[in-house]
Amino acid sequence: MENYIVSARKYRPSTFQSVVGQKALTQTLKNAIDAGKLAHAYLFCGPRGVGKTSCARIFAKTINCLHPTASGEACNECESCRAFNEQRSYNISELDAASNNSVDDIRQLVDQVRIPPQIGKYKVYIVDEVHMLSTAAFNAFLKTLEEPPHHAIFILATTEKHKILPTILSRCQVYDFQRITIADIAEHLQYVASQEDIVAEPEALSIIAQKADGGMRDALSIFDQIASFTAGNITYNAVIENLNVLDYEYYFRLTDAFLGANVPAALLLYKEICDKGFESQHFISGLSNHFRNLLVSKDVSTLTLLEVSEQTARRYGDQASRCDIRMLYKAMDLTNRCDLDYRVSNNKRFLVELMLIQLCQLSMPSEPAQQSQPALQAVQPAQPATQPRQAQPAQPVAQPHQAQPTVQPKQAPSAQSYVPRPVTQQASAPRHGVPMPSIRINAQKEEPAPEKEKRNEPFTNEQLVEAWLNYAETITNEVALYNTMLSHKPTLKGVNICHVSVESTIQQSLILVSRDGLLNFLHNELKNDTIDLETDIKVSNERHISYDTTEILSAMKEDNPNIVKAVEVLQLELE
Ligand SMILES: [Zn+2]
Repeated sequence: MENYIVSARKYRPSTFQSVVGQKALTQTLKNAIDAGKLAHAYLFCGPRGVGKTSCARIFAKTINCLHPTASGEACNECESCRAFNEQRSYNISELDAASNNSVDDIRQLVDQVRIPPQIGKYKVYIVDEVHMLSTAAFNAFLKTLEEPPHHAIFILATTEKHKILPTILSRCQVYDFQRITIADIAEHLQYVASQEDIVAEPEALSIIAQKADGGMRDALSIFDQIASFTAGNITYNAVIENLNVLDYEYYFRLTDAFLGANVPAALLLYKEICDKGFESQHFISGLSNHFRNLLVSKDVSTLTLLEVSEQTARRYGDQASRCDIRMLYKAMDLTNRCDLDYRVSNNKRFLVELMLIQLCQLSMPSEPAQQSQPALQAVQPAQPATQPRQAQPAQPVAQPHQAQPTVQPKQAPSAQSYVPRPVTQQASAPRHGVPMPSIRINAQKEEPAPEKEKRNEPFTNEQLVEAWLNYAETITNEVALYNTMLSHKPTLKGVNICHVSVESTIQQSLILVSRDGLLNFLHNELKNDTIDLETDIKVSNERHISYDTTEILSAMKEDNPNIVKAVEVLQLELE
């Protein structure tokens, strides 16, 4: 390979115009040069690889150019410009404070500063990573910074502005460099690709840009690496394979599974992801980010927050149109909780699978819209006044049974199990921005004879707790659930809602998978068929209680035959 130059160097910007993603800042610098208002010290702050040093070099070249262009750029032709471009100019000197941070290094620099330039007007001193200077070196520097000779200009660059002493800050003009947007990076990579005769899929460049996290230098070196690996044909698949990025196809497919309440599909996809060697914690945060992207895709005003390629943005828009906004809030809440619980969990894989099951539950027909209304009111007594509460019809909390569609089939086929909720029921309560911490389960879904007259005896909180404990006594062999029930007594909300707060998703699932048996028992014990169950997770300062996972699994299997099936199909084993 003769004379191979890495793209980060070859495509280093040589004019202000060619600096990517810092338009406002480069314009300000150009204006200052134009107006002849040069400061003696500048501080360039910002993340790595966003163009601080490049801008400093362009700045140094431009103020020394003998024939600047009409647009205020260096001509790149005069003797001074050529010397800069060939890196032999004496008018620029760079000091990397990360490796030269002693007092002696600074003294050397200060000695040079006295000598005026031979050609051009200014000598520019760039001190990179200036926050790394020792305190003694800082102090040695301060004097020069206070009274520099007319020909000297200092450009200090740092990634950590907060570490710069106030005495230095106050003597500098401060310029804050922004992270370069993914779209800007991808566009520049496309330009480089076209110059190098490299074929690159826009999707692939977008992933590289995301991975580079706002830094052009990193983006270009990843670009080089993949270009050489793929012999100049950069595809999406090559990029995700090389960068070990989880294909976001998985997130789209998983979300389809959630929307279809398809638990086996979700668990199988997760198994596939694990088999590919991806870290579950990364997967959880990737999934959170996917829900976040769906959420911002739902509203035109937040679309700018979506930093993906155009094609992917269309897919987000399409999937978002099929997601209920409240489902997205709940989904984000669930992934967030899973993320928090992950570190302390004894059985991490199981925790993630529980989350996937709960995500599927969000779209199960057991949660019809008009039924969840009283529950939402019951668990959110302290809603701010901005809530469009008045828009809701007066909720007949006292007799919610009158409107319950008990004909709802238990297992709807997945094709229809996620349909937009009927407008007549839903339109009354657009709860934007309200987190949904509770999961409400329809008590009636197992009822064999929907037309049967329902019992509706009133009962007290004490009676409810008593019935709850009585049920617990019937399941003493299921230790985990038994303990959970004993330590979390319910409270009566409204006239028929059995509300229980627990501390973890595991406890919540234990109760939820047993809901049918539990509710049947409560209905009979209290002679009231309208009783409904509602759970939420309390934020607690106490240490997270972990149960033996074998107990939890056996408890879940006992109450939900689907879990037995899932365990068999996936050949799951407890870790
Ligand atoms: Zn010039």
